[in-house]
Amino acid sequence: MSTVKATIITIGDELLIGQTIDTNSAWMAQRLNELGIDIERRVTVTDTKEGIKLALDEEIPRADIILMTGGLGPTADDITKPFLSEYFGGELVVDQQVLTHVKELFAIRNRPFLERNLKQAEVPNVCTVLFNKVGTAPGMLFESNGKFIVSMPGVPFEMMDIMTTGVLPRLKEKYISDAIVHQTIITSGEGESFIAEHIKDIEEQIPVHIKLAYLPSPGIVKLRLTGRGANQEQLEKEIAGIQSQIKERIDNIVVAEEDIPLQEILGRALKEKGATVCFAESCTGGYVSHLMTQVQGSSSYFNGAIVPYQSKLKHKVVGVDATALDEHSAISEEVAIELANKTRVLMDCDYCLSLTGQLSYGGEDDHIESGVVWMAVADKDRVETKRFKFHYDRWINKEQAAQMGMLMMWKFVNNKL
Ligand code: AMP
Ligand code: MG
Repeated sequence: MSTVKATIITIGDELLIGQTIDTNSAWMAQRLNELGIDIERRVTVTDTKEGIKLALDEEIPRADIILMTGGLGPTADDITKPFLSEYFGGELVVDQQVLTHVKELFAIRNRPFLERNLKQAEVPNVCTVLFNKVGTAPGMLFESNGKFIVSMPGVPFEMMDIMTTGVLPRLKEKYISDAIVHQTIITSGEGESFIAEHIKDIEEQIPVHIKLAYLPSPGIVKLRLTGRGANQEQLEKEIAGIQSQIKERIDNIVVAEEDIPLQEILGRALKEKGATVCFAESCTGGYVSHLMTQVQGSSSYFNGAIVPYQSKLKHKVVGVDATALDEHSAISEEVAIELANKTRVLMDCDYCLSLTGQLSYGGEDDHIESGVVWMAVADKDRVETKRFKFHYDRWINKEQAAQMGMLMMWKFVNNKL
């Protein structure tokens, strides 16, 4: 087993005060974890020499690998690069390849190249440049006293590109001799303790080099098997064996056998059946449609959606009975059913999902408790409904409603509802 340890340092006052959410740490940690590298600490520090120095002085003795992001822009608050150059005993020099690339980016964007932008092509002469093809600030790799220290820009997609092309391949080569295999089973319908109880005997038989993790999120529990070993093929076989034992045991709650988002799982189910789907999205305002259309090729099964947000549109456009709206309110089982049935016919689809709810107070339907969402799924013969109660703020409630809606549709399509 490896004992390679990594620390993640994110730099920026905006992160410390919560103005920007530190998504970089989570993403980098996930990639390191996939390689089987232990994450020792995650530290966020201020944009000052002192802040960065203190973090490096403390973390370098603890970790083999240090990944840093932030503070690499051309403005005065971006002091990471000159500081790192000084810290590792180097000098800043213009890198010709980076200079050409930065000038090209300025030309493409039709912006004048200023004297201060020259700084963007400077790198410490004691680092390996990790080329940033999607932005101006290059990543920098310092290999000092056997430690592997990387500094990358804070912009998430630039960090991801440098990690994928420059950092992860080097980490694999330098630190990873074992093969690592991951397998995920996505389940819905039972909680993690129930599942754990149900597969207790299988779990007890799992060898020590394979770990089983339970990853719960609303409506879903993911079971992730991670194994390390010298022989990739043998490991794959072992993990596949455990996976099929688990699957057999809890077959009725298995949604997918790989780690893919629900929109893709639902899309595949529809494709397999050669069926089409549409949505009547009131409270989610088109968000389910947005997620569905993130999947390539979704036009073959997703017909479209309507967002009848106000009650009068539910009546005027979809044809929901005005008395039903008055008597039961727009957020009701009756209206969800009408929305699903009528939208399905309107859009000429095999299936329709409707969502109508109160994500937070302050609108037309303030007599309804915040977080209540009625959903209905329908085909030509059948309609099923469910009342959900979400407990968070507007955005998280919307996210959860969308996930639950897609899951409900998936179950309906697979006759599991
Ligand atoms: P910087 O490299 O510090 O100039 O960061 C550029 C931009 O990237 C900032 O304005 C933030 O919006 C974003 N950013 C910086 N650090 C992070 C982080 N740890 N997680 C997510 N976004 C970040
Ligand atoms: Mg910054």
